[in-house]
Amino acid sequence: MEIREFQEIIKDIYFHKDSKRGVERTFLWFIEEVGELSEAIRKRDIESMEEEFADVLAWLASLANLLRIDLEDAAKKKYPGVCPYCGKNPCECKEKF
Ligand SMILES: [Zn+2]
Repeated sequence: MEIREFQEIIKDIYFHKDSKRGVERTFLWFIEEVGELSEAIRKRDIESMEEEFADVLAWLASLANLLRIDLEDAAKKKYPGVCPYCGKNPCECKEKF
């Protein structure tokens, strides 16, 4: 499955509800799911992590649908196979940890 196909599936299933809820409240749901992913990672709960990664991706797709952003186009434009900052693959940017 490609990113665009996933976004379309989420649109088919949820757009009627997402559009009633609106961008701001959908964004709050997205952030809530990010929080749940954080908890799953903290607990190293593999089953929950899988579920929460899927939820975060689904809510991100819902937001993109509401704002008419094509996630696949956006991702490929910014990340065309090299780091957008140093232009290398693998990235050679200096990072402070
Ligand atoms: Zn880089």
